[in-house]
Amino acid sequence: MSVSLGIPTIRGEGDGEGEPSPVAPRRRSRQIMVGDVPVGGDAPVSVQSMTTTLTADVNSTLQQIAELTASGCQIVRVAVPSQDDADALPAIARKSPIPVIADIHFQPKYVFAAIDAGCAAVRVNPGNIKKFDDKVGEIARAATDAGTPIRIGVNAGSLDKRLLEKHGKATPEALVESALWECSLFEEHGFRDIKISVKHNDPVVMIAAYRQLAAACDYPLHLGVTEAGPAFQGTVKSAVAFGALLAEGIGDTIRVSLSAPPVEEVKVGAAILESLGLRKRGLEIVSCPSCGRAQVDVYTLAEQVTAGLKGFPVPLRVAVMGCVVNGPGEAREADLGVASGNGKGQIFVKGEVVKTVPESQIVETLIEEAMRIAEEMGIEIGEDGSATGPGADVIVS
Ligand code: SF4
Repeated sequence: MSVSLGIPTIRGEGDGEGEPSPVAPRRRSRQIMVGDVPVGGDAPVSVQSMTTTLTADVNSTLQQIAELTASGCQIVRVAVPSQDDADALPAIARKSPIPVIADIHFQPKYVFAAIDAGCAAVRVNPGNIKKFDDKVGEIARAATDAGTPIRIGVNAGSLDKRLLEKHGKATPEALVESALWECSLFEEHGFRDIKISVKHNDPVVMIAAYRQLAAACDYPLHLGVTEAGPAFQGTVKSAVAFGALLAEGIGDTIRVSLSAPPVEEVKVGAAILESLGLRKRGLEIVSCPSCGRAQVDVYTLAEQVTAGLKGFPVPLRVAVMGCVVNGPGEAREADLGVASGNGKGQIFVKGEVVKTVPESQIVETLIEEAMRIAEEMGIEIGEDGSATGPGADVIVS
């Protein structure tokens, strides 16, 4: 039996199979290259994060970059607040498996150091670099010679004083004016290898700012809700703000800012893109909320199934339903599912009951069926979880 997965289409890549997409066509932005990652144009939206290690500690920073890469991070930013950090950039840029963006505040000299170090891009904050405007010509020349793009990263917390006085506070208009002013300085020198962010901690202000920016220029945009907060609050704020903008086709890279380990930021960022069909989905558990009809502990069962299939490399939608009243119907759209009741679990593949097993065997049976689906797709799963075989091109990387 061939099993068709209803999931892997990436919106905007042309394989919509006639389904209307709720996501608007991508805004047409000019494409830049951040290392080997295309950003803007028709390139997929990329997930970024930022290291929390001391950049000068090369080994720890590279270790964290490796962890971020393994969790799906595609571009990483490192802070460069001191000469020691700047001195570490050549080794980090050379050894990192993903493009490294140097984050520069206050000191223009580190911009040149980052370009010389071979960083894939440099982020500058116009509000925080003293005498930056006088240096733009020199920076534009160095960046052009090295092929290094510049991210103009405006942040509500460090807005240019002149604009703060003019607008009274960090309004969307103030953020956009700051970004476009800096862009105009680079443009005077013929430099357009630019990406822009206008971050604010309030999703409402942030959304308005990015909408204005998207209408005012064709530069690729990096989305971020700055200082979004601890994991729960930051996840909600980022999902709401990015969801609204990405659904309008706005946004070329995203960074979820959480007061949590950066790997968590990457997981949330990837999940946001997956939710909108902008990135291939991995394992998706569709579990019911449970109700008075439930004949099994749905929360525990959903957790066990999630844990049992953790790292499974094939994109699967797995339904975990608490009863047989709505379970079969709700499981029908999933690749695999279980509806529980009377101490048993009905196992579904594409909505068809393939077997009924005792409750204690539900998780292992779902794993067996997942392996069988992979096999039918021509994917061989190794003991280490690696996937090979002719069908392995659907694998989520
Ligand atoms: S599947 Fe059954 S237990 Fe779960 S919410 Fe629906 S009716 Fe309630």
